Amino acid sequence: MIIPKEPKLTGAQLKEVTEIVEEYGCKIQEIVGHHRTIYAVLGEERETIMVNRILGLAYIDRFDAVDSPFKLMDVHSELANHRITLGDVIVGDQPTIIAGQCTIDPKNPNYFLETAHAVKEAGATAIRGGVWKPRTMPYSFQGDDSSMKILIEAKEQTGLPVDTEVMDQYQLEVAVEAGVDVLQVGARNALNYSLLKKIGELTADKPIKVLLKRSIGMGPVNEFIAASEYIAAAGNPDVMLCPRGTQPTMDGYRNYPDESITPLLKEKTWAPVIVDPSHSVGRAQYVPSASLASMSYGADGIIVETHCNPKYGIGDDPKQSITPDVLKKLIQDINAIWEIRKHYNQQAKVLA
Ligand code: PEP
Ligand code: MN
Repeated sequence: MIIPKEPKLTGAQLKEVTEIVEEYGCKIQEIVGHHRTIYAVLGEERETIMVNRILGLAYIDRFDAVDSPFKLMDVHSELANHRITLGDVIVGDQPTIIAGQCTIDPKNPNYFLETAHAVKEAGATAIRGGVWKPRTMPYSFQGDDSSMKILIEAKEQTGLPVDTEVMDQYQLEVAVEAGVDVLQVGARNALNYSLLKKIGELTADKPIKVLLKRSIGMGPVNEFIAASEYIAAAGNPDVMLCPRGTQPTMDGYRNYPDESITPLLKEKTWAPVIVDPSHSVGRAQYVPSASLASMSYGADGIIVETHCNPKYGIGDDPKQSITPDVLKKLIQDINAIWEIRKHYNQQAKVLA
């Protein structure tokens, strides 16, 4: 929909606009109102080059798209009823809990295996474990290829799906080959479109899920959904969105907790939302309340750093991992919130 600055386009302006849209196979339909005339674009109005050429005309005020920019991830797209299964859980049908260490310590594999069994016992759906880590300083421990064996050992011993972050094509290929079930795209790579496309292509015909974190600098909700559209458009629509906190403007928390984004995402996309309270608040003592808040806001689940003995962890574990005991209680409370939410969902339907 094209809205001119003046109440109506002149004849010459209308001719110029019509010529541009026709180059892209579209037509103009005038909608004449009492005070002003607006111009509907019939055809594929999402063609960005066309839109930018129209917006470049000095006499145009706005171009309002009627169609959603998300062909696959939109809440009304043909994938609207698509469901993602993780282990025994159909995401959205019951709380999805991904729990485990921030970082696998290759020198102490037993910690990770113990954590894996403990989070299973606590009721987790899947296990997380960082093989490779994005670290602020190049001198910090960066992860190690050898940890992949430990991650897969945990998968085999527990029978639960496993999640790890990949940051480049090499790690992506190793993880896919090894049998990782959930590929995590971290906050630093959420806008790395080449990587997102590669992940979509390489997992297109495989039962592999992608957990896409929200980037630290991401603003509008659409920017986050657009990143997931890259993965789906490249072949894999099994994408879960993961808010994990944005720019740290709240003194005391590691990042700015953004779990309240969930209802806004749910209005626009069918993609499940799995919140990461660990990186959001960054301290183990704040994680339970951030987790419960996330579930209250309508998340489908959480991914939460958990360690059988946080003191001996590496990476983020000593400061932000909860223990399996805390996780167990948290999962019970999450289940209770899930039941409470059903009541409000029903009420919302009545009010709608
Ligand atoms: C992590 O999950 O350990 C991690 C590094 O997350 P993020 O990309 O959100 O910082
Ligand atoms: Mn971490």
